[in-house]
Amino acid sequence: MRNKIVAGNWKMNTNLSSGIELAKEVNNLVVNNNIKNVKVILSPPFTHLSDINNIINKEYISISAQNCSYETKGAFTGEISAEMIKSIGAEYIIIGHSERRAYFKENNQVLNKKVKKVLENNLIPIYCCGETLEEREKGKLFEIIKNQIIEALFDLPEEDFKKVIIAYEPVWAIGTGITATSEQAQEMHLFIRNELIGKFGKAIADSIPILYGGSCKPSNAKELFANPDVDGGLIGGAALNAEDFYKIITSF
Ligand code: PEP
Repeated sequence: MRNKIVAGNWKMNTNLSSGIELAKEVNNLVVNNNIKNVKVILSPPFTHLSDINNIINKEYISISAQNCSYETKGAFTGEISAEMIKSIGAEYIIIGHSERRAYFKENNQVLNKKVKKVLENNLIPIYCCGETLEEREKGKLFEIIKNQIIEALFDLPEEDFKKVIIAYEPVWAIGTGITATSEQAQEMHLFIRNELIGKFGKAIADSIPILYGGSCKPSNAKELFANPDVDGGLIGGAALNAEDFYKIITSF
């Protein structure tokens, strides 16, 4: 039985005080309603991680960073290491978000190094993959996703690969209000699962959570999460409103 997971990616939103407020609101909803069947993850900006880590109830909520360096430490001005993130109590790091691929030119090779650095520090990577609209329209969607997965994840030893969470986030659905249909999501999640079976075998492939991301909101979460290979969501915009985020968390 795979974990159900809902992770909120705040991106570059909120300042410290509004971020703390948002985290407190989510924390209260999840704790007061004793939500324990879903792993809830908050991924605020780096500047808030430590404070938010200190105010949430860790029995119910975990903390994730949105990125890290593939370097270990040293003269890399402006970079933040996986070890630093680990040291403030975070447990997850999002790697390969499409915004990082598009705006910061992170390719599968760079992301492979980042995934390894995350795992080396005993943290869990939430590895994002997704095709653009153009790639989908040209019928290249499966080829693109396959490459993103093979090049960033398939040289991991089994023991490490087992810890990875995958997020399928079609780029055309992120922040656009256009959601993949339930069928489109399941089709791609199953494709990914089958690729994992081919490489790591059924037992491991069946244990890997595959999250959907892309304009997931209270009105469509239930239908998306009802799919057998959709194990939860990576949520952007709707994670900035505690009530909406909570409705998504309780959509299983
Ligand atoms: C995301 O950025 O990971 C995301 C899924 O964004 P949104 O929910 O706003 O589409």
